[in-house]
Amino acid sequence: MLGLMQDHPLLISSIFEHAVGNYGKQEIVSNTVEGGIHRYNYSSWGERTKKLANALKSLNLNQGDKVGTLAWNGYRHLEIYYATSCSGLICHTLNPRLHPDQVSYIVNHAEDKVLCVDLNILPLIEKASENFKTVEALVIMTDEKNMIKPNIKDGIKVICYEEFIKDQSEEYIWPQLDEKTASSLCYTSGTTGNPKGVLYSHRSTVLHAYGMNLKDVVPYGAKDVVMPVVPMFHVNAWGTPYAAPMCGTKIVFPGAKLDGESITDLMNAEKITISLGVPTIWLLLLNHLRESGKRIDTVKRLVIGGSSCPRTLFEGFEDEFGAEVIHAWGMTEMSPLGTVNMPALAEEPKNRTEYYDQKIAQGRTIFGHQMKLVDDEGNDLPEDGETQGRLLSRGFWVLKEYYNDTTEKDRFLDGGWFDTGDVAKIDADGFMTITDRTKDIIKSGGEWISSIDLENICVGHPEVANAAVISVPHEKWEERPIVIVQPMPGKSPSKDDILNMYEGKIAKWMIPDDVLFTDLIPLGATGKILKNKLRDQFGGHKIS
Ligand code: AMP
Repeated sequence: MLGLMQDHPLLISSIFEHAVGNYGKQEIVSNTVEGGIHRYNYSSWGERTKKLANALKSLNLNQGDKVGTLAWNGYRHLEIYYATSCSGLICHTLNPRLHPDQVSYIVNHAEDKVLCVDLNILPLIEKASENFKTVEALVIMTDEKNMIKPNIKDGIKVICYEEFIKDQSEEYIWPQLDEKTASSLCYTSGTTGNPKGVLYSHRSTVLHAYGMNLKDVVPYGAKDVVMPVVPMFHVNAWGTPYAAPMCGTKIVFPGAKLDGESITDLMNAEKITISLGVPTIWLLLLNHLRESGKRIDTVKRLVIGGSSCPRTLFEGFEDEFGAEVIHAWGMTEMSPLGTVNMPALAEEPKNRTEYYDQKIAQGRTIFGHQMKLVDDEGNDLPEDGETQGRLLSRGFWVLKEYYNDTTEKDRFLDGGWFDTGDVAKIDADGFMTITDRTKDIIKSGGEWISSIDLENICVGHPEVANAAVISVPHEKWEERPIVIVQPMPGKSPSKDDILNMYEGKIAKWMIPDDVLFTDLIPLGATGKILKNKLRDQFGGHKIS
């Protein structure tokens, strides 16, 4: 027998209508790319979002078409998020830190019809656009006064955002979509091979936002002021653009200025209570606070995740600045939240040392998400706090396959389990700790660098017989790549010869920090490079 309760689809438009209808006066503040602070409220956001939805109609888009964004965190980006998803289009956020070739690969793979771009990201689009195959219109996210004419591929219509929406109606009745309809798309480079798309649905997005707002996760409230420092192109700013309006929370967008001073000043000016970001960002902030003697007294919680988090960050913010640091773990493939480190009362630590020992674990799973450990043959492993295994994930907001890509099919296992590529241990209380990574990929400052791409470029040098890229720990960036080179017999290429190979082929920040030479790169029985051996040998290398 079925229950007799109403069956409304879980749609992003319901978050929108709730926020606009109940929290119209609540503010959305943005540090703009053009310069200066922009300030309006949920009511104006609602009107402009509907105007944008009407404007997009004029571009002859069909439901399911993708609108790409290359933009920092700001109010226009939030308008695009909702105008697209609520009207049945797909909001595809792209990372402006990528190389133009990677951007054009992703735009073509996603078949983006429209791209919305912040002014200071135009140079990237100018370089990438020659290879675009599907883009029909480029919307420049600015007003007439600041508009510039980009030098892009012929045939792509160039539109000024403010002119585009100016004369549109503020009325738009959102369609009653199936809750499984795709709502947004985000590519991850945290895999081998080409970047892969994760296609979120309305249902997964709404459930993830609910999950975020559970008491022991992040939660937002109407009295909070949230600043998502994590970019809106990195897994939808970890869900904040949905979870915050769900609770009528004031939002402050930092724009492109993510240095310690800009973040501190904005936090104080807008009285931020909660903020989210990767360790590198919080390290910049902590250093700035220590050097300048400034405080951030309104900030009660800092959510940290995306990379392994040094203990000193927890200690620094909690002991010196009174902000609780909430440690979370997740992935693009998981919308992203999987675990949060929130101990139960019964586990009160005896002292600060024990407290921080607990904090550096990635934490317990959130309701809506499950995890387990398996060995290489897929057998379940015990959760005894000691046994390490491959970490599997499944849940309401975990992907079931990549978008139009089956190259990593073996990561999707029976029972709906997804192999995260992380290696972990879980203790009897459900606390998970990441211990390693099976993915041959490097995460620097919260951004992925493919070791395979770096190796392929290096072996293109005529004097290189083989090359292997590993990461070494780095104080500011968490990890940095170094390349280990086995020269051709009788040859001795220099460090500069090798590093010059990377110029122009990848984004500058992806270029290895150092080149080390070895007589022989160790290979396994199947010819694969034995990275573990190299990590043992060179992993302690200090970058000069
Ligand atoms: P992304 O898809 O870019 O968000 O990257 C997800 C990956 O980042 C995870 O699979 C982990 O390898 C890593 N990661 C995320 N959060 C943490 C964390 N708190 N501690 C250690 N690694 C993390």
